[in-house]
Amino acid sequence: MSEATDTTATVHDVVIVGSGVAGLSAAVYAARADLEPLVLEGPEPGGQLTLTTDVENYLGFPEGIGGMELIQNGKDQAKRFGATFTHGTVDRARLEERPFELELANGERLQARALIVASGASARWVGAENEDELVGYGLSTCATCDGAFHRGDDVLVIGGGDSAMEEALFLAKFADTVTIVHRRDELRASEIMAERARDHEAIEFRWNTELEALHGSREEGVTGATLITHPEGYPSEKAEEGVGVDRVTVDVGGVFYAIGHTPNTEFLSGTDVERDEEGYLHTRPDDDGRPTTETNVEGVFAAGDVADPRYRQAITAAGTGSMAALDAEAFLETLERTDATTPEVLP
Ligand code: NAP
Repeated sequence: MSEATDTTATVHDVVIVGSGVAGLSAAVYAARADLEPLVLEGPEPGGQLTLTTDVENYLGFPEGIGGMELIQNGKDQAKRFGATFTHGTVDRARLEERPFELELANGERLQARALIVASGASARWVGAENEDELVGYGLSTCATCDGAFHRGDDVLVIGGGDSAMEEALFLAKFADTVTIVHRRDELRASEIMAERARDHEAIEFRWNTELEALHGSREEGVTGATLITHPEGYPSEKAEEGVGVDRVTVDVGGVFYAIGHTPNTEFLSGTDVERDEEGYLHTRPDDDGRPTTETNVEGVFAAGDVADPRYRQAITAAGTGSMAALDAEAFLETLERTDATTPEVLP
């Protein structure tokens, strides 16, 4: 970390990396425990909820709530109890000794006695034309969040893995037709999920096909999509190589991406924190075998999607955020007790 220029002398009790629903929930709990947490807002402040319009399945909002509004409320709530927020992307972490040290992209360094990693997972994007314009307006990466807005629509699901099957099956409850668009002619999904999708009368497949462009506007939402097909699969690669592809424009009211997520844990790559092969953090059970949010590095906790490739819901992220703050609080109390009973070593 020699290139870092500015070292802050303050050692924070708790630094929370990430300001999505998991980070905010951790901030509310840590702040109410008088730990004065510092929340780092990274490149996607507010996390994935800021990409959706209305959230209808978060407990306590019978009429639903806007994703942005939910996040802003959470931030105000955390601030009310003493949490502070700063923009900063962590480039690297040094966790071999405490206090931990974080180096931010701007060169600034921060120190923390406990670290809550709530940096989330980012949906992978296809890169189709008009994506940026229409995300949240008929283009979504979460059927559970946005599926109910597509009653009676024809919708596309992009991807061929378990997520795509799951999204398609969920959407089939609302939409008239669901078409799974997959770039090859063989699914990656597990057989059981593939079979359920194949057997569903409202679900169709378009093989060897990719999404090239989305049509519509923020006023009208998604109204159509241009698809490209090549009989040998991977049509966009073929098109880039100059090979001819078939191109068709279809009328659809919604497009759902399900081509995987990437957990934002790259900044931990030089540390001992255990990650699985996709980068998701592992948390470990306590001495009685009960689940906790602590990673294999003592004092480092994980909350939300960064440790959850399975549920990935706002409400579950909020739950694990509160758990991480409670675990961090208990950890800091143990540290204080240990410090108080460790005899001072004289020079
Ligand atoms: P995944 O298994 O990595 O599948 C991603 C799919 O998207 C693949 O079919 C891939 O095509 C396609 N894809 C990737 N990049 C693309 C691009 N740029 N354009 C078009 N298509 C693209 O991801 P996942 O489905 O999210 O699943 C992640 C993990 O969670 C898996 O282990 C899965 O089993 C698990 N999961 C389980 C369940 C369940 O059991 N209920 C539900 C959801 C997820 P190729 O096949 O050609 O690579």
